[in-house]
Amino acid sequence: MNMPEKKIFVTQPSLPDLDEFIPYLKEIWNNKILTNNGPFHKMLEKELSEFLGVPYISLFANGTLALVTALQVLRISGEVITTPYSFVATSHSLWWNNIKPVFVDVEPESCNLDPEKIEIAITPKTTAIMPVHVYGNPCKVERIKEIADIYGLKVIYDAAHTFGAKYKEKSICNFGDLSILSFHATKVFNTMEGGAIICHDEATKKRIDYLKNFGFAGETIVMAPGINSKMNELQAAMGLLQLKYFVGNRDKRKKIANIYRKELSDIKGIKFMSELNDTEANYSYFPIFIEESVYGLNRDQLYNKLKENNINGRRYFYPLISEFSMYKGLDSASPLNLPVSTKIANEVICLPIYPDLHLDDVKKICSLIKDFNKLK
Ligand SMILES: *Cc1c(COP(=O)(O)O)cnc(C)c1O
Repeated sequence: MNMPEKKIFVTQPSLPDLDEFIPYLKEIWNNKILTNNGPFHKMLEKELSEFLGVPYISLFANGTLALVTALQVLRISGEVITTPYSFVATSHSLWWNNIKPVFVDVEPESCNLDPEKIEIAITPKTTAIMPVHVYGNPCKVERIKEIADIYGLKVIYDAAHTFGAKYKEKSICNFGDLSILSFHATKVFNTMEGGAIICHDEATKKRIDYLKNFGFAGETIVMAPGINSKMNELQAAMGLLQLKYFVGNRDKRKKIANIYRKELSDIKGIKFMSELNDTEANYSYFPIFIEESVYGLNRDQLYNKLKENNINGRRYFYPLISEFSMYKGLDSASPLNLPVSTKIANEVICLPIYPDLHLDDVKKICSLIKDFNKLK
């Protein structure tokens, strides 16, 4: 088996031709507006709300500050129910607001928060639910809304993975009270660093925009101790250019996902997610789950063997957020409370997937996984 000579990583940002970016830079240099809701910022908000089909969007410097701000917009406090199977920023946004995360287990099929385990975790202090649409796959949004409505809770979705993904023909970001996107370099749509909050009414959009600009609600009014988390004009220009390539790039990802599905389907002990009903995926990640007793190697052995062969997958999400020292002491962080999350965190590897990944390399990765299984 010939291994690729170059290191292949789980993702690589797609970049437009540098020449195409120059005219945007010239415009910024000409009008000398660098930030503070400049012309590119306004244009990107408009184009994104049309492209995604969402009513109101506010751009941010990154997704984490968008999460932190979203909790302030709705005045969330006390306890928030969330998932341990995510990137740490989900729980960190609660920590930064002095809110206690209450971890609830996920479903094995989708890796998303299990709605049937939410009610038992609700206490008088609970004010909101913060689920994550992991790998861009929608949570059980109708069921979560039903529970939230009964108990009077807000729902804030960490939708960092879902750019361009749809559920029942609508952007997944249309569900919940607020949804947060990330435009980080590693995400399917990137502005180098960047993020957004999606909301459903103009009054809320105004409050979001005050809070991301120190709380200024006018020249002389400060409505809260807001942060500075504005997206700048360079990021916004990058976003306008990147948006032109999103659909083409997504289609390239889809081709790669299809090869993985075909080539890996007959390897015993390797599982992957099938396309979900009513969902238009964005192919942001390609997680596989290794069942050691059948495949012959455990997850870390496969992960390391791939690495020796220049294939750098990532164990998204391992360790669970609930395993990190600042959360480990919480009652809800016990592995006994989180059996499904604990199991999948020990089985998962996300394989490389990005628009410029060669299809031959995808096939090589699949052959390696096949060969290791024979060697044991
Ligand atoms: C990337 C990511 C974030 C953080 O977004 P940044 O833009 O990097 O700050 C939050 N939550 C999830 C699930 C993510 O994957």
